[in-house]
Amino acid sequence: MRVMRMVYSVLILVVSLLTSCSAEPPAAPDAALISGATMGTTYQVRVPGFDEDDRVLLQAQIESELESVNAAMSTYQPDSAISRFNQSRDTDWVPVPESLAEVVLAALQIAVATEGAFDPTVAPLVQRWGFGSQSKWLEPPAADELSQLLQTIGYRHLKARLAPPALQKALPELSIDLSAIAKGYAVDRLAGIVDSFGYRHYLVEIGGELRVSGFRHAAQPWRVGVEQPAEDGSVVDASLALTAGGVASSGDYRNFREVQGKRYSHIIDPRTGVPVEHRTAAVTVVANTAMYADGWATALMVLGAERGADYAQRHSLAARFVEHDAGQFRVTATSLYRQLPADAGR
Ligand code: AMP
Ligand code: MG
Repeated sequence: MRVMRMVYSVLILVVSLLTSCSAEPPAAPDAALISGATMGTTYQVRVPGFDEDDRVLLQAQIESELESVNAAMSTYQPDSAISRFNQSRDTDWVPVPESLAEVVLAALQIAVATEGAFDPTVAPLVQRWGFGSQSKWLEPPAADELSQLLQTIGYRHLKARLAPPALQKALPELSIDLSAIAKGYAVDRLAGIVDSFGYRHYLVEIGGELRVSGFRHAAQPWRVGVEQPAEDGSVVDASLALTAGGVASSGDYRNFREVQGKRYSHIIDPRTGVPVEHRTAAVTVVANTAMYADGWATALMVLGAERGADYAQRHSLAARFVEHDAGQFRVTATSLYRQLPADAGR
């Protein structure tokens, strides 16, 4: 058995950090950088025009928010609210932190809209295919095991409410996985904190999912580079000039397993129970919030470029697809994505 897990450098680069050959003015000298590790990856918060007196308090609030999102939504913490909900067999309403109920509601919204291509109850399949917190790689499941697993999932068996915040599972063995959307939610929460300090210009990023507001420097929009996925190091392929919104990507090349020459994506189609096998390498979505960008990027990755591009076009999503095409990459984008301001330097 050969297991490969390859996590490539984040799909989205903040190009403003790569100023070496750019004619752009340098980042403002007073732009604060607060960064660290979270959710198995890294985060950064950039605030031009930052008042250093705010640093200690801002950093403390950021760290405490990240802890609280993890305490609610991390399947890697056995005592997190999501882990307790997953272990419980209770089919009554179970009180949960508001953040968890909020993210499950958003996940259910995308699940309904995609008729289950995106599904937060995909957790048992994620574990079984070797990508979850407790997973160990086994041979791919046989047909009867797969059909048994499929009986334990389904967004229709999950309910969420906000007042008071609670979740309810109709199947005792139902469990949830919010990895496809929780990072984006955390980005939005950190953006809210920076906002509450009175700053209107900032960039927040966790593991490639990001949110920007205002300008990086003197009326210069934030430059967000979208990489062409490549296993041998990646090149910035196109960049956007944004002053608001969330950007997220989902890809098959960042996290996969290879067993006996066959490659298994960590993106699983909950309707078949099997990792996706189409030629779509990556999807990038720009939305009002990082949470929706994150969730929709994964949802469109399940659908694949062929169906996803059409879906995204009809549902007014700003989405960009990269497909493997005879050893090359083919890029397509919805009209809303194409209307986004491109960075002049690229
Ligand atoms: P992302 O990197 O945001 O695309 O999220 C990928 C993660 O979402 C995977 O590692 C799984 O934990 C989870 N996941 C996989 N397939 C699905 C799906 N069909 N719906 C929702 N979450 C999924
Ligand atoms: Mg996602």
